[in-house]
Amino acid sequence: MDQRFDVTERFAEGAQFIAGSLRTGTSGRGQDVVDPATGDTVLRYDLAGTGDVDDAVAAAARAFPDWARATPAERSDTLHRFAAALAEDAEDLAYAESLNCGKPVKLSTGFDVPGTIDNAAFFAGAARHLEGRAAGEYSGDHTSMIRREPLGVVGSIAPWNYPLQMAAWKVLPAVAAGNTIVLKPAEITPLTSLLFARAAQRAGLPDGVLNIVSGAGRDAGEHLVGHPDVAMTSFTGSTAVGKRVAELATGTVKRIHLELGGKAPFVVFDDADLEAAVHGAVAGALINTGQDCTAATRAYVQRPLYDAFVSGVADLMATVRLGDPFDPATDLGPLISHAQRDRVAGFVERARGYATVVTGGEAPGGDLAKGAYYRPTLIAGAAQDSEIVQAEIFGPVLAVLPFDSDDEGLALANDTPYGLAASAWSRDVYRTGRAVREINAGCVWVNDHIPIISEMPHGGAKASGFGKDMSAYSFEEYTQVKHVMYDNTGVARKDWHRTVFGDRG
Ligand code: NAD
Repeated sequence: MDQRFDVTERFAEGAQFIAGSLRTGTSGRGQDVVDPATGDTVLRYDLAGTGDVDDAVAAAARAFPDWARATPAERSDTLHRFAAALAEDAEDLAYAESLNCGKPVKLSTGFDVPGTIDNAAFFAGAARHLEGRAAGEYSGDHTSMIRREPLGVVGSIAPWNYPLQMAAWKVLPAVAAGNTIVLKPAEITPLTSLLFARAAQRAGLPDGVLNIVSGAGRDAGEHLVGHPDVAMTSFTGSTAVGKRVAELATGTVKRIHLELGGKAPFVVFDDADLEAAVHGAVAGALINTGQDCTAATRAYVQRPLYDAFVSGVADLMATVRLGDPFDPATDLGPLISHAQRDRVAGFVERARGYATVVTGGEAPGGDLAKGAYYRPTLIAGAAQDSEIVQAEIFGPVLAVLPFDSDDEGLALANDTPYGLAASAWSRDVYRTGRAVREINAGCVWVNDHIPIISEMPHGGAKASGFGKDMSAYSFEEYTQVKHVMYDNTGVARKDWHRTVFGDRG
């Protein structure tokens, strides 16, 4: 892919999108946007300060009454046009996402961008299907009905691993349901959130319905969570920051939706298709250079298949091509930053003290040395309670452990604080049925690992958080249910008044 546009020129007006205009942040601090494949700075911008957050929330609050009253058909029409505008911008979006995150173009063009367009198309339809229960008479004297209402201004905070898709997952259900929103992307990856907002504006989304504040977590992020005019916080990021967000949200009794870390198990029973499991494990562990909250991170393999699985995965990992994200042949790009690469390398170096690095375990040299690259890494022989098996690494690292009985395999799968995703591999429907039932996670795949789809929810259990992104289930997060009760009797002295007035009633 050729260079699509000059990033500095495109965002010359600034990296804040408030009330329909790009402008500069007023925190007084600058932020570099870096291409992790080269270490080069592609944009330097002024971070949002708390005053910018206040302005964005005020713009969203002003836009709320009209947007909330727009009919489902009007909101749906806008989102259909938005999906079309995103499709027109597909190459720019893929270029910016690959440049900012080091994603191979085959990932940004084959997953991030089409997934985002499809999400917009899905929510265009879903906007017309907000459900409430039909009116009913549950007391002889009243008719009850349910109104499903938007909450108001939503404050959303997103991570850097899938900036475009996270923007889509946060913004689309919120605005489809009639809310307005202030989105804070991760400060190191603001580009595609801004392009996304521009496409929405072109599609006719009224100014103020979607605002982007590109700011740091500690000031802009915390200010957004604590803001009294924000009705709800939707957060995707690490469990550690999620806990802080939950604490801050209690101050204003805010509704929260938390999509947090993961440490997905990949359970291979002894009757599994070994070739499928090996390919599934490598693809599932390496997608987005392992910086995926649902990535396969812990493979548990029943003893009869263990040795063949380990050698199969090691051999396949060794064939993975690291390279320039813009080369269509590249399978694996760099990590998001040099700091993240060093963090991942730290986990692997510490694991050498108690486990075996079967393959990988190093940064490549040569042309790739200046980027934040790290080789696909397989680690065997680690204990279940070791750091490499328990902690979220967020890099191209898979730990593999053997198990004997099905009971043991499932118990190990459940034995971390996380519960976001998991997979079970077997040809026996009863075994996979048991795994599906007993693994405590928001998603369990059977004989696959990773695919997502707009119609189905994404969200976790345990320390992976609560609430759902995507699908009609996400409307539960972004709407409140109001009970409306009509008196049917028309009498002044109601029967129930006896509980107050007694025989005078
Ligand atoms: P992070 O928690 O460091 O940051 C996430 C966002 O929170 C960023 O926008 C950051 O600026 C902001 N932030 C940081 N400190 C804050 C504070 N004190 N108050 C308010 N906001 C604050 O996470 P990350 O490193 O950007 O992303 C990686 C993490 O995200 C991983 O743990 C991964 O599992 C998780 N993740 C989860 C899902 C999911 O759906 N469950 C999806 C993607 C990523």
